[in-house]
Amino acid sequence: MFMAVEHTALTVALAQLKLAAQKLELNQGIYKMLSQPKRSIMVSINVRLDNGAIDVYNGVRVQHWDARGPFKGGIRYYPKITLDEVAALSMLMTWKCAIADIPYGGAKGGVCVDSKKLSKRELERLTRRYVSLIVEYLGPHRDIPAPDMYTDAQTMAWVMDTYSQLKGYMVPECVTGKPVEVGGSEGRTEATGRGVIHCVQQAAQRIDLRLKDASVAVQGFGNVGYHAAQAAAELGCKVVAVSDSTGGIYNPNGLNPAQVLKHKAETGSVQAFKGSRDITNEELLETSCDILVPAALENQITCNNVDKIKARMVAEAANGPTTPEADKALYEKGVCLVPDILANCGGVTVSYFEWVQNLTREHWSIEKVNRKLGEKMTRAFNDVYALSQKEESDLRTGALMLGVGRVADAIKTLGLWP
Ligand code: GLU
Repeated sequence: MFMAVEHTALTVALAQLKLAAQKLELNQGIYKMLSQPKRSIMVSINVRLDNGAIDVYNGVRVQHWDARGPFKGGIRYYPKITLDEVAALSMLMTWKCAIADIPYGGAKGGVCVDSKKLSKRELERLTRRYVSLIVEYLGPHRDIPAPDMYTDAQTMAWVMDTYSQLKGYMVPECVTGKPVEVGGSEGRTEATGRGVIHCVQQAAQRIDLRLKDASVAVQGFGNVGYHAAQAAAELGCKVVAVSDSTGGIYNPNGLNPAQVLKHKAETGSVQAFKGSRDITNEELLETSCDILVPAALENQITCNNVDKIKARMVAEAANGPTTPEADKALYEKGVCLVPDILANCGGVTVSYFEWVQNLTREHWSIEKVNRKLGEKMTRAFNDVYALSQKEESDLRTGALMLGVGRVADAIKTLGLWP
């Protein structure tokens, strides 16, 4: 049996960096540089609530590395967020952008807040105040935020407007994931979920899995999980189980994701959907299926349930859903695991397309965005796959080596100033 080990997002990210550094025989100085974020900005966000009282929220923006281009990464609103966790996520963004081969470094922002407890106006005030506190460190050529957990296109519109008001002119290229009417890209909302399924298509070819009628279980029915389920269904897969924070549903004949979404909008939960059986989130992970897509929280596949995972493929739509021990166990079981920094890089890839469109004052069609996303995802998957074959390693090690290696090459070429 595997021993349970206490992990934090940061200890896992640092262990991954160490592994990649060893395999790449990385220069010790560069390894040390990459172990720490370049800059962490901590702020206190004072917000006047609708009832007139003032509350204070802690916020942070961590900028990990920018050797390949400006910092890039989402802003997350989450009650239990810590500086370490945001630092770990910023590091993952650095590798993710390098794997996607887009000209960005990695960053992440976080505010300790339960967004469900604030009104829309309170969230707007919180967002604007947070941006005003870090504005000097943001900018289209400096650091470009985007949505993440519990932030969305509306939040990004407030980011854009606050930045622009403070600069004195409209700067749509300062943030991505905006609504289309203020410079957002077609296809950005769906991009992460669709990107995951591009990886699934590539991986399926390598393990001889026919996608027509292949069974898929998706944990998490937010933006990423829903669009992954939808894209899988479009390919002819059978989406046999989905779940949200209230629980899951199972139907061996396949669920229609759009109808489940409608049901969730009406009732507040995916459960009690007609023709399906209610299951728990734990049962969803252990469902008999060909492909498991964890698209919710971290640490879902652990040493406690890894023995019960029946899927042939796990595509990590969420960041960090598999613990290191479970990762190893899945590899030994012969499960094909597509790691987060590869599987979910479609989101930041279309963010990059949005930024390019803003900088060139263009607006691309959905067909163009999706075609270019498919090309980028296929290239990223092939690069990672080739390296992991060469190294005789799992895809996660290949992905880390590719990402860390590209960033280290950029640092070496730039040299160290002064
Ligand atoms: N928050 C997303 C991620 O973790 C997207 C980041 C972006 O588009 O900059 O990849």
